[in-house]
Amino acid sequence: MALLRTRGRDLLRCRTCGATFPEGQATRDGWHYECPEADCTANGIGDGLRRIK
Ligand SMILES: [Zn+2]
Repeated sequence: MALLRTRGRDLLRCRTCGATFPEGQATRDGWHYECPEADCTANGIGDGLRRIK
């Protein structure tokens, strides 16, 4: 079970709107990720969003 790891401090960057945000803001269930910006529909690690350190 790796779900708890998703509450970490990693930052994600949206490939669509360029926003950066903590990983925890981009997911509710630790599985599906989407950009937290209201008017942006980017989703998916490595697809719409990418992990930055
Ligand atoms: Zn976005």
